[in-house]
Amino acid sequence: MTMRNRGEKTWEGKGSVLIGIEEAQRIVLADVAPLPTETVFLLQALGRIIAEEILAPWDVPMEDSSAMDGYAFSSGGLRGDRLEVVGFLPAGENRTVPVAPGAAVKIMTGAPVPPGCDTVIPVENVETDGNGIRLLRPAVPGDHVRKRGEDLGRGERVIPSGAYLRPQEIGMLASLGRVSVAVFRKARVTILATGDELVEIGSGPAPGKILNSNSYGIASQVTETGGEPIVAGISRDDPGSLMEKMSEGLQADVLVTTGGVSVGDRDYVKEAIAGLGGETRFWKVRMKPGKPVAFAIVRGKPVFALPGNPVAAMVAYEQFVRPALLRMMGHTRIFRPVVKVVLKDAARNKGDRPHLVRVLVSLKEGRYEASITGSQSSARLASMTGGNGLLTLAPGASLSAGDEAPVRLLDRNFEMGEFRDGAG
Ligand code: AMP
Ligand code: MG
Repeated sequence: MTMRNRGEKTWEGKGSVLIGIEEAQRIVLADVAPLPTETVFLLQALGRIIAEEILAPWDVPMEDSSAMDGYAFSSGGLRGDRLEVVGFLPAGENRTVPVAPGAAVKIMTGAPVPPGCDTVIPVENVETDGNGIRLLRPAVPGDHVRKRGEDLGRGERVIPSGAYLRPQEIGMLASLGRVSVAVFRKARVTILATGDELVEIGSGPAPGKILNSNSYGIASQVTETGGEPIVAGISRDDPGSLMEKMSEGLQADVLVTTGGVSVGDRDYVKEAIAGLGGETRFWKVRMKPGKPVAFAIVRGKPVFALPGNPVAAMVAYEQFVRPALLRMMGHTRIFRPVVKVVLKDAARNKGDRPHLVRVLVSLKEGRYEASITGSQSSARLASMTGGNGLLTLAPGASLSAGDEAPVRLLDRNFEMGEFRDGAG
């Protein structure tokens, strides 16, 4: 087949004709655009990107209100240190009758300061004295009163369109009376495994058979990215069956396949893409693992043909699918953080492709350290379960223990502070 022969040349090309990771990322990102927006109930908006500008619909607080449990009074009406208590104002109640100079109203946090008052003295700073109170320390005029509009003025911008919604933004939206909010739609992603050797989970291991693990690892990556995975099962290594299943999968926003995209005799995914009228933007990237990866646009939808080897598939997902999905879901920050680590192991790359080495990063006294997760075979999933970061080793690089290197953090646990040292 001509296509395969052409590919063969690239394969042997000592890296020179393969595109690099960053170039491949640029190609992908140039081809994906944000999905339409939808309006969802507030609690469904967490972790999504807001697609509208939020302005304060009223002054916050709406009126002068007490910041403390205490007594409200007029600072100008104070003679000496004694005030007559003439009423009680719990939170949720409003008093329209003015409070006379020299009098006070007991007031709870959040209650509107009644007319005639400008100052609140906390309960801790008074002692009761018959029908009144005695101030134990002088009150500064205006103390402990949250002024109307002090937090937000009506019309003020509170959340810009395009912001990532965290719990504090959800709370803010609720405080502004919002029940629902416009956000970018979640990307729906079909995941199609390919391979005559594959059997579904639930069946036992058997000679020559491989459990389909990629569909589940990748579906979980999609969920973690914030998308909606659709696990579409296994296609046989047959162009017709592939085209049929891929065609079905293209009803989603994105199609991800695994396997069948290398140079094996039964690797038909590229043929199936062509058969469906798709345009392949690239095939093979200068990286290890994950070289046999293709990106195509088929019927207007992005298609990622990931390698079959489980680690290669997950690493290629990290490099290309995750940033693409994030962009589709309205994110502008689409790459994970890179930190400088001190290596605990030596690391060499004798090959001609950048090696994405799986490492276990830990935080020790404010410094990141990383050890290599054992054998880096692209079939060895344990190299990923034992780790939480990717170290990029350039071709020819030779690092010793104690050297510094940049590592991309794959693990959310790092966002939670001190990371436990050691695996698990
Ligand atoms: P391929 O590129 O299709 O030749 O696949 C490369 C290797 O990955 C083979 O050893 C496959 O058995 C393995 N593989 C392919 N697909 C999967 C899958 N869905 N789950 C686990 N291993 C897979
Ligand atoms: Mg295969």
